[in-house]
Amino acid sequence: MSLAYGRPLRAMPGPSVIPDRVLNAMHREAPSIYEGEIVEVTASISADLCRVAKTDGAGVAMYIANGHGAWEAAIANTIAPGEKILVLVTGRFGAGWGEMARAMGAEVDMMDFGTAGPADADAVAARLKGGGYKALLTVQTDTATSVNNDIKALGAAVREASPDTLFMVDCIACLGCERFEMDAWGVDVMVAGCQKGLMTPPGMAFVFANARAQGVRKSLTRVSPYFDWAPRLDPAHFYQNFFGTAPTHHLYGLRTALDMLFEEGLENVFRRHDAMAACVWAAGEVWAKTGAIRLNIPDRAARSVAVTTFLTGADDATRLRTWCEAEAGVTLGLGIGLSAGQIAPGDSAFRIGHMGHLNPPMLLGVLGTVDAGLKALGIAHGGGALRCASEAIAAAASEPVPVAQAV
Ligand SMILES: *Cc1c(COP(=O)(O)O)cnc(C)c1O
Repeated sequence: MSLAYGRPLRAMPGPSVIPDRVLNAMHREAPSIYEGEIVEVTASISADLCRVAKTDGAGVAMYIANGHGAWEAAIANTIAPGEKILVLVTGRFGAGWGEMARAMGAEVDMMDFGTAGPADADAVAARLKGGGYKALLTVQTDTATSVNNDIKALGAAVREASPDTLFMVDCIACLGCERFEMDAWGVDVMVAGCQKGLMTPPGMAFVFANARAQGVRKSLTRVSPYFDWAPRLDPAHFYQNFFGTAPTHHLYGLRTALDMLFEEGLENVFRRHDAMAACVWAAGEVWAKTGAIRLNIPDRAARSVAVTTFLTGADDATRLRTWCEAEAGVTLGLGIGLSAGQIAPGDSAFRIGHMGHLNPPMLLGVLGTVDAGLKALGIAHGGGALRCASEAIAAAASEPVPVAQAV
C-alpha cells in the first residue's frame, strides 16, 4: 500500500525546495522590459548577490542558464585556447568543469584528490609553483561526493605559490548555505546558480568577477558574444544585462528569495545549514554502525553542509530511492559518478540534499522515511538513528546566538 499521498518532498541536491513566497512572487503579469520596476529589481539583485558572495570589488554577470552555462561563461571570459590551467578534482563536478575547459581548447592538467576527501592546499601550492598556470579551477562543494574544499586555504596557496594565477571557484551547490568570502579569500571568479541555496527555480546562473579577472577578459582577443561578461557587468542599456530578453519572472522570484535570506540573516542561514547537516550526519553515522550503508566522506570537517552522499551495497541505493518515492513521496538524490572518468555508481550511492528552504520537520521527515525504507527493504542498518538526529536538532536549537551578528 503506497502512503505517498500527502505533499511530495524533494530531497535532491538541486533543484531544492522552492518556497511558496518565491513561487507566489513569480505568479504575476509580465512587467515592461524597457523601464520601471524590472530595471530597479535587476540592479538590486546584482547588489544583493554581491552581498551574499561577500564582495565589494567584484561585479556579477547574470545569465539565463543553468550551472553548466556559468561554467562556460567563466572559461570563455578568462582562458584562451592553448592556455594552461590546473583543475582540482574531488568528484564529478570538479572534473566536469575541467572537461568543459578542455573542450573549449584549454590545456588542462587535473589534480585528482580521490572521492572521499578535500583537495590538499600544500600539494596544490607545490604544483602551482613555477607551473605557469593561467588559472586554478575548483569547486567549494562537490555535489557528487559531498566533499567541501577549504577555499580560504586554497586561495592562500594560490597567492603564495603563483600570484598571477586566477583563482576560480564553483559555488553552485553551496552559495547561501556554506560560508564564502570572495574578497577575503582571494577568489577572482566565482560561479553560482539560482536553484540550490538560492531557492529559485532553475534557469539563472551567475559569474562573479573581480577587477583582476575583468582585466584578464580585456586581454583576450575574442570572447563568445553571448557569454561575454563585459556588457552584462556594465550595461549601457537594460537589455544588455541578459543580452536580450530578461528572465522577468525569475527575477521576481530571486528578489524574494534574497529577501528571505536577508530577513533570516546570512549568519543564521549558515547556522541553520550547519544544524541540518549535523542532523543528517548523526543519523548516517548510526546507520553505518552495524549497517551496509555509510557516509561517503569520513571526516566531518570535510563534509559539505548542503548535501550528503551515502554509499550502500550493490543495488540498495536504487531500491531505497525507488521505495522512498513510490511508497512515501520523498525523492532522494541519485548517486552520480564520483570521480573523473568513472562510470556512475548509481545503484550503490544516493544523496540527500539539505540546501535552501529546509527546516527540522522536513529533514526529520526525510531521514525517518529513509530509515523506514531501510527496514522495509531489509537493508542492514544501525538502529536508533532518528533519536540521534532529533538530539542533533535539539542541541543546535539550544545553542546561544552570538551577540555580534554580521549580515
Ligand atoms: C549543480 C551543480 C553544477 C551543475 O549545475 P546545473 O545547473 O545542473 O548545470 C555544477 N557544479 C556544482 C558544484 C553543482 O552542484
